[in-house]
Amino acid sequence: MTSSSDRSAKAPGADLIARFAAIVGADNAITDAAEQAPFLREWRDLYVGRTPLILKPATTQEVSRILALANAEGVGVVAQGGNTGLVGGQIPSESGAEIVLSLTRLKQIRGLGADGGSLTVEAGVTLAEAQAAARSAGRLFPLSLASEGSATIGGCLATNAGGVAVLSYGTARALVSGLEVVLADGSVWDGLGALKKDNTGYDLRDLFVGSEGTLGIITAATLRLYPEPVERATAFAALPGLDALLPLFQLAEAQAGASLTAFEFMSGELLGFVTRHIPGTQRPLAGEAPWYVLLEISGAAEGRATGLLEALLAHAATAGLVSDAAVAGSLTQAAALWRLRESASEAQKGEGGSIKHDVSVPVGRVPELLSKAADVVARISPGARPVPFGHFGDGNVHYNISQPPGMAREAFLAQWDEVARAVHDVVTSLGGSISAEHGIGRLKREELVRVKSAVEIDLMRRIKTALDPNGILNPGKVLSR
Ligand code: ZN
Repeated sequence: MTSSSDRSAKAPGADLIARFAAIVGADNAITDAAEQAPFLREWRDLYVGRTPLILKPATTQEVSRILALANAEGVGVVAQGGNTGLVGGQIPSESGAEIVLSLTRLKQIRGLGADGGSLTVEAGVTLAEAQAAARSAGRLFPLSLASEGSATIGGCLATNAGGVAVLSYGTARALVSGLEVVLADGSVWDGLGALKKDNTGYDLRDLFVGSEGTLGIITAATLRLYPEPVERATAFAALPGLDALLPLFQLAEAQAGASLTAFEFMSGELLGFVTRHIPGTQRPLAGEAPWYVLLEISGAAEGRATGLLEALLAHAATAGLVSDAAVAGSLTQAAALWRLRESASEAQKGEGGSIKHDVSVPVGRVPELLSKAADVVARISPGARPVPFGHFGDGNVHYNISQPPGMAREAFLAQWDEVARAVHDVVTSLGGSISAEHGIGRLKREELVRVKSAVEIDLMRRIKTALDPNGILNPGKVLSR
């Protein structure tokens, strides 16, 4: 998954490297290959990059000085947060010409809004740290992902991350009211603030959210906080077949309304992978079912969420939509159920190579996506094992496919592009998107051109050229050069 255009740029010389290093100090300028290694490899091992220099600035001013110099000298800059991205956006190319800007030292929690409705943090604060800061003020920052211990706020916003709470709170884009961004020439846009309404011209904030470090570098953000639910009730339900998924979701929505805060699903085969490969996990229900759903209902009053959930499951069982279900009786049990779902991606490593997709379709068409995608995969790669999971309530499916048992990993992964094109064609035919919550990065930049209209690609290129005329910001990501 490389292309020759990534090898064209010229690496900065020793003098220039010294000038960059002087901005952050020698201790925060990494040139040693062994020290660099963890920054240059993404966790699925799809991309391994090269760089002469990793810089770890601690302030917005340092980021500004670095970009001003990079822009003047024409050096590509790849911003990186917790290095948990899944499309290669945070990894430099193999050219060895780009420098990496690790933002993990921008760690300040700048403050809570006077009404408790917002929290301003710097880009390197992890998602878990932002959640904890909100919690210590008696508030909720709802964005939640499996990688939240390492993923940073800057990275979550730069990729418009989704996760498991989108159903009621929206993606990262909906959870930010203001940004501070360093532009390609080093100038700083202070757009922080907690306004709910602001119609003063073009929405600059939404231009940077989801831009994957290609239009500017987010250095701080004002996040929206919510009341903490008094109670959460969690259940794991077994479904008799694919046909039950949509009616169960519709029933849950009808009965719980806005209190339905999660409706996550996974295939039965994938639950088997989880209990086989993830230590300490076990099946919450006897027997095996083709599909499982994790439901969460949050309540503003004690006892209400559990009551609602139990009534819903009883109704669903009567209607034949659920064959068995376990309701968590404690926070520990709820955490164990969530762990099954959140280990879904990790568990696939134990089964060899995986071809992965992050797609969305209108919720009502998810079952159709699942059956049609299974057909195309069986045709291209007989014996491959689709193990879809994801955020059913958002129409977001991680349509992952584990290799046929016994096949060589590399031989299976060589089919990636062909399989991805076929799955994406199914998604497009259903009115869907080829990237629901992971972004484009390098992995999908060729697919982006294939599925977007010429008008859309042209608009994107014009925005890129306007904001980054020298092409220094995350070169070759989202849009190819
Ligand atoms: Zn997801």
